[in-house]
Amino acid sequence: MMTKAKSTDAGKGQVHDAVSIVDDILAQATAAQASDIHFEPTGKGLVIKFRLDGVLNVFETLPETLAENVVARLKVLAGLLTYRSDIPQEGRIQLKQSPGAHIVDRRLSVFPTIHGQRAVVRIFYADPAVSELDQLGLGPQILPALKAIAASSQGVLLLTGPAGSGKSTTLAALLRHIVHHCRGKSIVTLEDPVERIIAGATQVQISPHGPMTFPTALRSLLRQDPEVLMIGEIRDAETAKIGILAGLTGHLLMSTMHSGNPAGAILRLLEMGIEPYQVTSSVLAVLNQRLVRRLCPACKSRAGDAGPFKAVGCQACLQTGYKGRALIAEMVQLDAPLRKAVLAKADLEEMEAILKAHGHMDLRQNGQCLVEQGITSAEELDKVCGQLA
Ligand SMILES: [Zn+2]
Repeated sequence: MMTKAKSTDAGKGQVHDAVSIVDDILAQATAAQASDIHFEPTGKGLVIKFRLDGVLNVFETLPETLAENVVARLKVLAGLLTYRSDIPQEGRIQLKQSPGAHIVDRRLSVFPTIHGQRAVVRIFYADPAVSELDQLGLGPQILPALKAIAASSQGVLLLTGPAGSGKSTTLAALLRHIVHHCRGKSIVTLEDPVERIIAGATQVQISPHGPMTFPTALRSLLRQDPEVLMIGEIRDAETAKIGILAGLTGHLLMSTMHSGNPAGAILRLLEMGIEPYQVTSSVLAVLNQRLVRRLCPACKSRAGDAGPFKAVGCQACLQTGYKGRALIAEMVQLDAPLRKAVLAKADLEEMEAILKAHGHMDLRQNGQCLVEQGITSAEELDKVCGQLA
């Protein structure tokens, strides 16, 4: 991918080199908003990779002669035992070294491998601001329907997608929307962990291994007269049961579920022991979403005037061809045919056939609009939608 020449004098200059090289890598990773920096020993060199917009990219390869000193420098910064390279170690890199005030934490983990120590620095940035619902990039088929659901006085809205697909960003935007447009509503969230502060909502930190688990907190919370409830994730049958019950009894409940597609989320509820009639009378909709990387506006190019845009790579995007991410989503509302299918205990295939027959636009079709607008590439869409389970 990208290589960057570094002058490296052999010998005693190397320790000094390592100091400036590490400073430079940390500064560049922060400037690029990388979430992780990997230092991978290969036996031939130390490969430095940045995780940018969720994807690992090679940033540079340092000569083998520097590998040990670079990792040693990281260990010094994190206060680890530099003389022990045979055990895994973890620590924090002090923030006074930080070039930007928006970093809240940097954690170092080192691990011995056959080629030497492998190090990973994870960078934690300050809480991202809560976006407006209109700014998320949801299409005209989804946004008005989602706003109508946000205004409902009862029912369940489920968000699905793998980790890192922007579900908590959407939930935060939804809550903010409710705070602003349905004034006076009592809004409570149960989260593990609380990621963003939402003014106007009561936020509760869940401890899955302590006394405040999702089901215990949710059960007590229902006696606190909430109108809108957000549960970080429905992970177990107990939470699902109480949550669905809440949605049936005058509360609007929003949560996420681990499922690759909307029909899968509905089936998962049934597997958790929720009765089909409870699902059909509580679930308003399932929003399934992913994040695709945006093509870098500085370097994207197309063949001719009408061809699709492709990723190229330039200095602005660290040669990745992409910068930032965009949302793609599909939303399934439980309409009459689908409710009938749930009550008849239809399987995944049957449910998907019903959706298709009713002109449902799936994730890939929604994503295709972004490819046509040159916002993302067909390759990126394939990569993201290839993960559909
Ligand atoms: Zn670029």
